[in-house]
Amino acid sequence: MKRLSPSVSSIDHSHTKFGRLWKTRPLKRHYDVVIIGGGIHGLATAYYLAKEHSIKDIAVLESQYIGFGGSGRNTAHVRANQRTQQNVKLYDEGLRLWPILTDELDFNLMFFNCGNLSLAHSEAAVSGFRLAINTATFSGVKSELLDPQQCKEVIPALDISDRPAHPIQAGMYHPPGGTIRHDALVWGLAKGADKHGASIHQGVEVQGIDVDGPRVTGVQTSHGPISCNKLAVMAGGYGASICTMLDIELPIHPLTIQAMVTQPLKPLLNCVLSSGAYHVYANQTLKGEIATGAHMDPQVNYTTDVTAHYFKHQAEALTDFMPCLEGVRFLRIWAGLADMTPDMAPILDGNVMFDGLYIDLGWGYFGFKSGPITGKYMAEFIAREEAPEILAPFALSRFLENRYMGETATTMKYGHWD
Ligand SMILES: Cc1cc2nc3c(=O)[nH]c(=O)nc-3n(C[C@H](O)[C@H](O)[C@H](O)COP(=O)(O)OP(=O)(O)OC[C@H]3O[C@@H](n4cnc5c(N)ncnc54)[C@H](O)[C@@H]3O)c2cc1C
Repeated sequence: MKRLSPSVSSIDHSHTKFGRLWKTRPLKRHYDVVIIGGGIHGLATAYYLAKEHSIKDIAVLESQYIGFGGSGRNTAHVRANQRTQQNVKLYDEGLRLWPILTDELDFNLMFFNCGNLSLAHSEAAVSGFRLAINTATFSGVKSELLDPQQCKEVIPALDISDRPAHPIQAGMYHPPGGTIRHDALVWGLAKGADKHGASIHQGVEVQGIDVDGPRVTGVQTSHGPISCNKLAVMAGGYGASICTMLDIELPIHPLTIQAMVTQPLKPLLNCVLSSGAYHVYANQTLKGEIATGAHMDPQVNYTTDVTAHYFKHQAEALTDFMPCLEGVRFLRIWAGLADMTPDMAPILDGNVMFDGLYIDLGWGYFGFKSGPITGKYMAEFIAREEAPEILAPFALSRFLENRYMGETATTMKYGHWD
């Protein structure tokens, strides 16, 4: 990986009107807590540790720049109508956090509460929606089944006739969801973590992990060794490979997801739209672009390269059920890594395999919406050395005990993992 040149991170902005949002502090040789990864999970955990648990001696080590990973590349969709009760509870609390966090950080996160509409194109998909809606309703989360005509009332551009390859049979409408500006969240959390005393070090790559018997004791970095009492691995798609430094093989596969935006258009898509059958999701940004993403590349890899295949796929999928988009041009495409577990739920654990080791990984498609709320609870976990009740179902041991969480139907096998 390329590192930031020291000259970039040491530019003095003190003469400018706004100054920098966070300080560049000297890199010490010891911290109470070291967090690997300057994405929203690492930054949120640092923020809450410093703010709510008075643990200030924290270093967030980021090999590139904050937001380099999935946190700066996602399509920023937020919602709470997951499939399982444990997930709904966490994501619902996450959704309620946005206005609070905007105030606390004194930073406009641009939460746009436009709602989410997922489309079903088969009887099986409608049954899946019924199950998800019941789970959400049971937890007090608003989610309802719409018929095709009602879907068209939400998004008039939808073609609800029998013409598309997969005619629309129903929709799952979730009014509390929407979008957030992803860079704003990264910058706001960095500002908040710094304000409460945590230090953020960009361009510092972790290259090894030190242990003493059953305990982790520190990290080897591109800038020398750093010892710590507690170590949190929150490195998104790179986290599983970092754990192999401790000979821990997690049931996580890194896969590439691509996303792209069209030229700006007049408003036509007034909520977040998704379709499993077409493997497509989309929203219209405040600039008017249609931001759209798709399914993941099927092979395990660490590339963030993009492919022409996805332009074609997105164009064909979107125009099949929203024909008014025909002729619209794509302007930009990018890719990022998703750390997929077999049950599409994350691994949130502490004192796992080694004393002092904390893991917050395996978010796949869902790690943006859950970032701040998970950071809040991971901070509590690290400070009190006991899993908060809401995180307990996400322990690594569920894979050993065959307690898969069912966020997706899966038959993937991890026979090699123990
Ligand atoms: C195209 C795309 C669309 C997505 N859309 C959505 C969405 O709409 N909604 C949603 O909820 N989620 C979405 N996601 C998923 C979401 O972005 C991620 O789950 C989330 O950002 C993970 O955050 P993180 O903080 O755990 O990791 P990251 O943001 O990936 O941060 C990890 C950081 O660790 C750093 N790092 C890696 N190795 C080292 C090392 N050795 N030393 C130091 N630092 C290291 C990396 O540089 C990186 O900055 C999407 C992802 C992609 C790629």
